[in-house]
Amino acid sequence: MFVKKIFLPQDQMPTQWYNPMPDLPTPMSPPLNPETMEPLTPDMLSPIFPDSLIAQEMSTERFIDIPQEVLDVYKIWRPSPLVRADRLEKAIGAKCKIFYKDESVSPAGSHKPNTSVPQAYYNKIEGVKRLATETGAGQWGTALSFACAQYDMECVVYMVKVSYEQKPYRKMLINTYGGTIHPSPSDQTRTGREMLAKDPDCKGSLGLAISEAVEDAATRDDTKYALGSVLNHVIIHQTITGLEVQKQLEMVGEKATHLVGCVGGGSNFGGLVLPFMPQKLEGDPVKFIPVEPKACPTLTRGEYRYDFGDMARLTPLVKMHTLGHDFMPAPIHAGGLRYHGDAPIVCNVVNEGLCDPVAYFQTDCFEAAKLFMRTEGFLPAPETSHAIKGAIEAAKTAGPDDVIVFLYSGHGMLDLASYDAFNQGLLTNFELPQRDIEEALKACPDVK
Ligand SMILES: *Cc1c(COP(=O)(O)O)cnc(C)c1O
Repeated sequence: MFVKKIFLPQDQMPTQWYNPMPDLPTPMSPPLNPETMEPLTPDMLSPIFPDSLIAQEMSTERFIDIPQEVLDVYKIWRPSPLVRADRLEKAIGAKCKIFYKDESVSPAGSHKPNTSVPQAYYNKIEGVKRLATETGAGQWGTALSFACAQYDMECVVYMVKVSYEQKPYRKMLINTYGGTIHPSPSDQTRTGREMLAKDPDCKGSLGLAISEAVEDAATRDDTKYALGSVLNHVIIHQTITGLEVQKQLEMVGEKATHLVGCVGGGSNFGGLVLPFMPQKLEGDPVKFIPVEPKACPTLTRGEYRYDFGDMARLTPLVKMHTLGHDFMPAPIHAGGLRYHGDAPIVCNVVNEGLCDPVAYFQTDCFEAAKLFMRTEGFLPAPETSHAIKGAIEAAKTAGPDDVIVFLYSGHGMLDLASYDAFNQGLLTNFELPQRDIEEALKACPDVK
């Protein structure tokens, strides 16, 4: 019988995450303290992160045990199915096979609980009672409030005010999980109050929301901060998806030739492809294809250099592909793909020439998402539509022996307004003039 959905039995779920650090051909450049330009030491991170996550951030162990209490929560939805997109294959006349790893089946509806759950757990066992974070479109806030509910912790989310007002359903989800949510700028922090005093109508920005969440964590003994992408420990947690895909492909006797994922901060893409890196380094020709919006072309047009992780210049300097921390991307509907930089691990691997990054216009991605919905039935998140577009494009030149696997990072059931705009022909495309990129890059610090 033709198998459409490949379910890995729960007792065969991976029990360790993969850490690519020891296998990188060129070691990572260390994060730097922006004041001294010296490499960051663990004690500088301890006001906002628990020791076990700081240790993971700097770990050189190839495999890291997943704690039993985390496996217990993962079991709510993991292992996630690997699905053959045969109906999409037919519609596009593909000669190859296409599979998608369905991370939309998690309680929060995306891959983000793969890291929110262990982050909440490690904080919990170190005595932290409360986690503070920021959220843009609301997916990360949802994932973290779900995870905090699992371990009886408080969760405080600073949500960019404009999204808070435009996307009320995420707020309702977060509240129902028991989380507290403040539109940012809020009256909860000094940063927020100062901004409100200056401009009572300020609609906020992700940079401002990060500043509020970090201030909240740094000024309270019972609270730490959690970040949903970019950091090494986040990418490590996300490797559960790639490790499961390896087992699932083995179950049906297939071998991946193309691995595709959308890239915002790089965590779902990194989680899918990095477990395949050792075999690629040994000569396996498997292609890694990160897909980004043309409106925020970090990997395809950014520069590989040290930059701040945020607009407010609060974070350490990290070496990554960047469009400049001042870069303000156009308001495309894939809110999760509007970050000016990318995860340093993913950038390291891209810089080694191990990836083939591509960028597409949002209307072409929505078109791909619509075709996916009409053939495979499910409604993808606008972010995920980029991976679908990437897979369809890769299929055009793929042959009968090729196997494309893309990561289906989330569902779009709370993004229907974007589809409405697309259906009404209201979406516009943005391509950055080279001049704007060069201008934004001038704000990067000069680090050799
Ligand atoms: C957050 C998010 C992304 C982008 O984040 P990455 O860290 O690049 O994975 C992509 N898809 C969905 C559904 C998301 O919620």
